Amino acid sequence: MCPTHNLRTAWLILAFGCLVASAALARPISQGPRDIIHRGIGPDGVGDLPFPDSTIWMRRAGAQAFIIECANPTQADLSNYSITLRVPAGYEIMDPSGRFDKWGFQINMPEVTRTTEDGRQVVKLAFRGAILPGDMDGDDGYHRYGTLLVLRALPTANGASAADERGVARTAPPPADDGRLEYACLADNWTGPSGSMRVRLLPDLPGAIDKPSMLLCPVDWYLVHFNEAEARALLQTVHDAGFDTLHFSNYHDELLQQAEEGSWLRGFIPTNRERARLADELGFRIIYSLIFDWGKDLVVFDNLPEHQATGSDGNPVDRIPCPEWWVAEGYQRHWETMAREMDLHHADMYMRGNECNTWHRYCFCDRCRRAFGDAKQVPDAEKLTAEAILEQYRDEWLDFRCMQYERVCQRFREGAYQARPGSEFSIYSGLQDPWCKEKYTTDWRYLGNSCDWAVGVIGDYGVTREALGGTPLMGRVGIYHSPTQRYGTQLMDCYLDSGAYGLRAFALSYYDGRILQAAAFLSNFMARFGDILANHTRHDDWAQTDSESVKARVLVGDDDRTRLVVVSNNSGESVQATVTIAGVEQGWHARLYPSGEDLADPARAFLTLAPWSVQAVELAR
Ligand SMILES: [Zn+2]
Repeated sequence: MCPTHNLRTAWLILAFGCLVASAALARPISQGPRDIIHRGIGPDGVGDLPFPDSTIWMRRAGAQAFIIECANPTQADLSNYSITLRVPAGYEIMDPSGRFDKWGFQINMPEVTRTTEDGRQVVKLAFRGAILPGDMDGDDGYHRYGTLLVLRALPTANGASAADERGVARTAPPPADDGRLEYACLADNWTGPSGSMRVRLLPDLPGAIDKPSMLLCPVDWYLVHFNEAEARALLQTVHDAGFDTLHFSNYHDELLQQAEEGSWLRGFIPTNRERARLADELGFRIIYSLIFDWGKDLVVFDNLPEHQATGSDGNPVDRIPCPEWWVAEGYQRHWETMAREMDLHHADMYMRGNECNTWHRYCFCDRCRRAFGDAKQVPDAEKLTAEAILEQYRDEWLDFRCMQYERVCQRFREGAYQARPGSEFSIYSGLQDPWCKEKYTTDWRYLGNSCDWAVGVIGDYGVTREALGGTPLMGRVGIYHSPTQRYGTQLMDCYLDSGAYGLRAFALSYYDGRILQAAAFLSNFMARFGDILANHTRHDDWAQTDSESVKARVLVGDDDRTRLVVVSNNSGESVQATVTIAGVEQGWHARLYPSGEDLADPARAFLTLAPWSVQAVELAR
């Protein structure tokens, strides 16, 4: 990648990298009503989302990133544009100064003044340049004006949190359960919109870190934009919710060495490494991916023409090696890169994105066609043209390319093992599905042999687990699909239905407090029921509910001496439901989770379920 791209191209690349790192398999993002305060994953507007119901939900002592934009509904440039924010008592907007020291450019960083009036923090953002007319988006959907800030619920004296800066005594009042973040826009000869966003404090619910299942958070690009104190507060908030693992991706050192003075890579690469170090210090396990090879066939190799892949037109493919050559003898240089970057990022694991849709484009060299002929019993395959292969042996060729990826990924796995003793290797792709096979060249019957665990999205978990043949599968939730309170059940549903190995929840800056609250609930659930979650069969038909919006999942321990009936209310209304459990006769004991209340009749549970909430009946005999 050329390090001299202009700024916009840089952001396109970042946005692309971010998407491939976590969201490429997602459906399009739906846009809700706009407020000048919202969420997103990149300053280019990727994944902009409103706060549902214009409410920011905060965890106790938690931090929340938000974007604030300048509105200019007039026909004229506005100069001396400012936004004044009045922060609810017990909260603060963190000091953003020093944030861009390491960057070659700034993203509309205003001058920030923070004062206190009547026990409330007042933050004034004074934008340096004139604000042009138009809507809140710049051309091409880019935000031209606005900035990122971090709102934090101040720790109270009796609930001191690790999110607090060490040694700083806080005398602030406890945060109100229901406050208002007020804003007012002002410029020369113009009084702009003013309004407020509700800020609600969630009940105290610490997450559980020490648990058998993995709760995985991919880190998006916002983290490099914050200064260390802000990044620490955001990561600590995620850790406090029970996320034990972070997924970082970054560009590699060669690009940093080649980057010219002033290039954004000079800031991005080291800052991203620094964030990985911070995460390591906070106690996260770290998964690393090279942005370079994520979802692509790019690897570090000698680029000699005789080692490049051969395209369907017979020409060498720039920057792509022949997979047969790479697997047999070309992998060493990529291993060296993996090892160095995993060290630099304190990584415990490596993850590859298998999302290449290139099976029809390469590699049609003699070596690959020979391997194809051997694998698929195609006589004289070396004499076939690419066109003939794609016309006469299309399915066989696609399957062969999937088989090649098994061997490519096997080399990646060995590379990860060599890099860091005890490390793991994981693959992210679509689930087992004809569409995913063609779209991503993914067939888990093969890839399952090349990874320690898989992450999949789009398709059927059961079919995929069967194809994986014993290799664990992790489900993945794209949180931006849920502009409502659905988080409460969505995380649990995806975790259980994908097989209860773990959950990947995308992504950091989307997390409002309710997502984290759902994660904290799930992390405690994982810790409490680790044994049966690790080893169970599902018999959902053993339980009935009398409410359409209430679903019961039945997990049965191996010897059927324990059962777990997980009951979720998939509606926005509070629901009273009766859950009837079959086959529970004498000798069974039942207890509700999380209340701990014993059931008089273990075959029947009367539950009052809050909107989008989960409870469980724990049965033992
Ligand atoms: Zn080849």
